[in-house]
Order: sequence, then C-alpha cells, then structure tokens
Amino acid sequence: MRRLAVAGLLLTLTACAPGGCQPTGSPETGDANPAEEPLPGDPDEPLAEPEAPPEPEPVTWPHEPGGSLYPGSGNGATDATLWAAGMRFPMEAAPAYANSQVYGYGGYLAPGPGGQCDARNYAYPWRDNFCETRSWTNGMCPAGKGHQGQDIRPATCEKKVHWAVAAESGRVTSIGSYTVTLLGDSGRIYRYLHLDMAGVHALFPNSASRDVTRGQHLGKVSADFGGNATTIHLHFEIKAPVASGGGAAVVMFVPTYSSLVDSYGRLLSVTS
Ligand SMILES: [Zn+2]
Repeated sequence: MRRLAVAGLLLTLTACAPGGCQPTGSPETGDANPAEEPLPGDPDEPLAEPEAPPEPEPVTWPHEPGGSLYPGSGNGATDATLWAAGMRFPMEAAPAYANSQVYGYGGYLAPGPGGQCDARNYAYPWRDNFCETRSWTNGMCPAGKGHQGQDIRPATCEKKVHWAVAAESGRVTSIGSYTVTLLGDSGRIYRYLHLDMAGVHALFPNSASRDVTRGQHLGKVSADFGGNATTIHLHFEIKAPVASGGGAAVVMFVPTYSSLVDSYGRLLSVTS
C-alpha cells in the first residue's frame, strides 16, 4: 500500500498549480485512474495538502481613476506613483468619500443647489482632487500649482464623530491652528487638516505624548479652519522626497489618491 500511497503523493504534487491544489482524482482534475487513490483512513495515506481556502472576493468600490478631476476643476496629476505604499487609510472606518469640497454640493462652485450634507456628497464614486484649481504651488500639477492634498468626507455629515488615524507609526511634530503634522518612520510627512483641534490638543497635551503608532487616533474630523469654518472633511496630504534632476531629493507634496485607493481597498477587505 505504501507504493500506492507514494504514487498518490506524487500525483498530489503534480496536481498543484499556481492557482492552488486540487486533490488528485477529483472530478476537476480529470484524473482517469481513481484506483491509485489511497483508501480513506489508510494509515499510510499521505497527508494531503489541504485544499486552499477560496480566495476572498476582492473588495472594491466605485472610484474614478487617479488624475481624473471633476470636469472644469483643473488638470490632475499625471504621476500615478504609489507614494505611500502600505500606509493605513487615514480615517478609522469606512465608508469615507474622497471628493471635491469646492466643486461638490454646498461648495462655492457646486454643480447645483444643495448643502454640504447633500446625499450626493456622501456617495461613491470617489474622485481625485489633488491639483484642483488653487493658487498654491504644487510641482506635481500640470499647472505648477493646485490643491495640495485630497479631500475626504467621513461616513456621515457630522463633526467630531469620525476618527482620523495615523497613516503610519511616527511622531506628531506640529499642531497648528488647523493642521496636524505626522512625521512617519518612513520619512514621509502626512498632514491632516480641519480636525477638531481642541480635541487634538487634549489627545496630545505635551511632547511626551506625541509618539504615535499606526492607526492611533489623531483627532476627529471636523471643519476647523483657524477661526473660520470649512466643510466637514479631512484634507489629507503626503509629502515625500522626490528626486530632482541629479540633485538632492526635494521633499514636496505628492499625489495622494493612489495611496488612498490602495489603503481604502485594504480597509474594506478587513471590515466588510
Ligand atoms: Zn482640501
């Protein structure tokens, strides 16, 4: 019986393909020689490789491609580099809605009547708004200037409910009037704008409190804008060293959308 068992093992091995292993003799493999199969319960039966569990369905959601800005809002970045590969999505929970504040409902260049809490703002598809028309310098934009990050609405149109979290482990190096700066251990810089700043100060009362781990609460999404208010959203930026024509790399704003798409897909995979 051992000989047959060995033969069975060999057959098992040869039935393993990159897509996974099928037990020999199963109808799927078309094995025409079931007599080679060890009997169930045979003590010499080789340990069959367990059938690979079914691959989880890839979780996706409707999202426009990177660089495809709202029509008329500017030309998007053409660079599709995954600048922050592996980062954690900067909001704790899904859903979240990456889209324009200025060109969305309730914005001053909105496509029609409606407030910021309009259900159409809290819906997919996602849309890139890095490089959206602004006067700020941005070397990654075709125009040389534009919106320096991505705007993301939380799950609901409520202030001080939804947590923003550290995209990677590192240190909070600055807390401004409406900007929280995280220097990641990778050397990348992440900036979180418009959080509930009073809550941020309560979380980080002193220097010793500012070392953070990936996924740690940084503050709640709000609309703080240094004494003014904006819409309820997280404006999220990434700054990273970018090679510059043979000289030293320059740390600059880089396109955020691809890293957000990547990290959100992974967040959905574990929470859905
Ligand atoms: Zn913004």
